Amino acid sequence: MKEQTTETTKVSQKVEKITQVREIPVIADYDVVVCGGGPSGFIAAIAAARGGASVALVERHGFLGGMATASLVAPISVFNYNDRRIIDGIPWEFIERLIDIGGAREEKPIGNITFSPEKYKLIAQRMVLEAGVSLYFHSYLTGCRKSEDGRLTHIIIDNKNGAEAITAKYFIDCTGDADLSYQAGVPMQPMKSELQPATLIFMLGGVDTDSLPMIRHSQQGINYHDIDMRKALEEINKQTKLPKFGGPWYCGVLDRGLALVNMTRTYANMADNRQATNTECLLREDVFTFVDLLTKNVPAFKDAYLVMTAPQAGTRETRRIQGVHTLTGEEYIEARDFPDAISRGCHPVDIHSSSSNNQRCEFLKDAAFIPYRCLIAQNFPNLLVGGRAFSADGISSASVRVQASAMGLGQAAGAAAALCVQTGTDVLDVDIAALRSTLIRYGANLSK
Ligand SMILES: Cc1cc2nc3c(=O)[nH]c(=O)nc-3n(C[C@H](O)[C@H](O)[C@H](O)COP(=O)(O)OP(=O)(O)OC[C@H]3O[C@@H](n4cnc5c(N)ncnc54)[C@H](O)[C@@H]3O)c2cc1C
Repeated sequence: MKEQTTETTKVSQKVEKITQVREIPVIADYDVVVCGGGPSGFIAAIAAARGGASVALVERHGFLGGMATASLVAPISVFNYNDRRIIDGIPWEFIERLIDIGGAREEKPIGNITFSPEKYKLIAQRMVLEAGVSLYFHSYLTGCRKSEDGRLTHIIIDNKNGAEAITAKYFIDCTGDADLSYQAGVPMQPMKSELQPATLIFMLGGVDTDSLPMIRHSQQGINYHDIDMRKALEEINKQTKLPKFGGPWYCGVLDRGLALVNMTRTYANMADNRQATNTECLLREDVFTFVDLLTKNVPAFKDAYLVMTAPQAGTRETRRIQGVHTLTGEEYIEARDFPDAISRGCHPVDIHSSSSNNQRCEFLKDAAFIPYRCLIAQNFPNLLVGGRAFSADGISSASVRVQASAMGLGQAAGAAAALCVQTGTDVLDVDIAALRSTLIRYGANLSK
């Protein structure tokens, strides 16, 4: 096997700095700006707009869905616990709209969602536009401006028009990597020495999807990987050193013959550009190695071929904010209820190792709660965080990071921002009773 290098981009050790002064046009003003149009971001934008706010949604890609569409992460986990819907409201409305056009199937009783990435993009964009949200696609959040009291005043985006500034009363950071919070100076959780690995998911065609094992992820308490292929890989690995792998996990996209494969992995801090670049290159090499092994070892892949790698390697873990409260694994696994609970989670604590092929998968004893205080940071009166970058330790975040719970956090952040617009309050002083009743009106399940 070809020796692989993990370093494709050489960087000068000497850091020279330049100062660039540029005039940036302020192009628009909104009540709420949401940065990042992934599962948490597009739901946050809809929730804020339905609460009466004027809303902009900024996304670096030309489509919505984040990891679900840009990284082909499937299935959407997980809406139910013991056959009871735990994540509800706008997130589930989105799934119903997707089901209506043949773009999703609920795997009962657990409520995992097998979906078509293209139909996902379509329904997400329809719902956002129907809510009256202004979309800024192909726009990279690159900076922000703060006033002396810590209040964010502008975000800076870069796109084909050059640099542009947008003002708003409230900002929601749904970038997954906490890009806006980081640029604003919000303290971050200590970076662990071993982050969960990055993975480049790929799509195979020519698959006998009727006989492919473990393609439907339906039951609670099961880790749906291909056990036979895993054993085969472990055997091969003893003779020939393979790249690191996980699973392998397979998922359909509702088209006969097509399947997504989640198995590549490497350590990377994907919030660092050079590491992200090197990771994309390394994992693309690994995909070709694994496609060859899958077609030789899995009968359902006998005639399979590579259709595509995901446009972007998937990121499981990077920065998380240090919020007013940090949700601990203990609180989460005990399913501790909070007076300011605004969303819930029911996926296992799912920690993939970056340094080995292993995974820790701990199933919950009950559906857990997430307090509002994990979405806000002390001294940042008009900033909320939705999705993966919320304030949590490595254990609780390893469950909440999945898409349904990320959507739940987005719904809460959007509703809170709209409430703040109505009342003129800081996010730190939001009326919790009013927020919870708004969320319950949206359909959220906040009761034990
Ligand atoms: C390999 C892998 C397997 C996974 N398996 C599952 C699974 O089986 N089930 C499941 O439900 N979840 C799974 N997850 C987790 C899940 O996909 C993510 O944690 C989830 O998508 C997080 O949602 P989010 O909205 O917080 O962030 P993201 O989905 O990362 O969305 C962030 C959005 O912000 C945009 N953005 C980022 N930075 C900027 C910027 N500076 N400017 C403008 N836009 C920006 C991105 O383009 C993206 O659209 C998996 C993740 C990975 C990587």
